Amino acid sequence: MSMSIAVNSLKQIVHIDEVERGLACACHCLSCGEAVVARKGVLREHHFSHQSRTASCFITPESVLHRYAKQVICEAMGLQLPPMPGQAPASEDTSSWWDFEAIEEEVWLDGVRPDLVAQLSDGDLFIEIAVTSFVNEEKLARLREKTARVVEIDLRECAHQAIRVPSESLRAFILHAVQSKHWLVPLAGEGAEILVEAAGGDTEALDSFAGRGLPRRFVVEGMWIDAWLLPFGALALRSVAYSPSVVQHLKLLARRFGGRYAPKYRNWVFALWASEMVLAELSALELQGISPLITFIPDAGQASSSSP
Ligand SMILES: [Zn+2]
Repeated sequence: MSMSIAVNSLKQIVHIDEVERGLACACHCLSCGEAVVARKGVLREHHFSHQSRTASCFITPESVLHRYAKQVICEAMGLQLPPMPGQAPASEDTSSWWDFEAIEEEVWLDGVRPDLVAQLSDGDLFIEIAVTSFVNEEKLARLREKTARVVEIDLRECAHQAIRVPSESLRAFILHAVQSKHWLVPLAGEGAEILVEAAGGDTEALDSFAGRGLPRRFVVEGMWIDAWLLPFGALALRSVAYSPSVVQHLKLLARRFGGRYAPKYRNWVFALWASEMVLAELSALELQGISPLITFIPDAGQASSSSP
């Protein structure tokens, strides 16, 4: 089996038709990484061969498709996605383009390795690309432990139809087709579930919060973070104005204390057991700032329930 694709010096997948003849193609084998020669003679079908003339590596179309999808999304730094469960679509066209601030491939995160991890201003998005296998129950359970949203892209149809890789039509399909994308986290109706889970039915602990002075506004690095109790006892935090650094603090708190981002309310929600520690951390962060200020915000509860 001859190789019709390789990887160029920019680590992009290229077809034999797109490159210069011979070693001038400056390409490497997609599988083993050896330098390849673009053989574009008149007798045989054009193909790449290892520079050492060893036998071609066996490269499955599925693995190429999987890799190409990751490349395309990393280059685009964004993705068109269907509306997330629990989030009202902003327009008639119910899908929307999500811009990423950063993206990484295949990073291990404490026992689980999503295909792509995209960072957004309001938290992480894991992207799973399904060509031959879908996310199974076990992986899904581990993904759900993270404070991230998870979307899966189903590219089986592209594999079946043997769509050319790379190609503009495939790139457009990966980035813009919405019907092939499914939300794994959150699932439909999960917003309410997160909140009930966070409360944990711990009414005794709830009473102990009576004297804690919530709602309360913390000032961290000059930015406001509001903290208040939800009616059923969970602690909610919100960064009032956008600041990447403050979002980072909130993310770290969420990772350490099992908090979750509730996109519908733009809140970070913590279970009651974690509340005291989270508030202590916020106080510590505040003291690192220039002018610690504590002000009461009597309308915070109302604001949280009327948010889009
Ligand atoms: Zn090879």
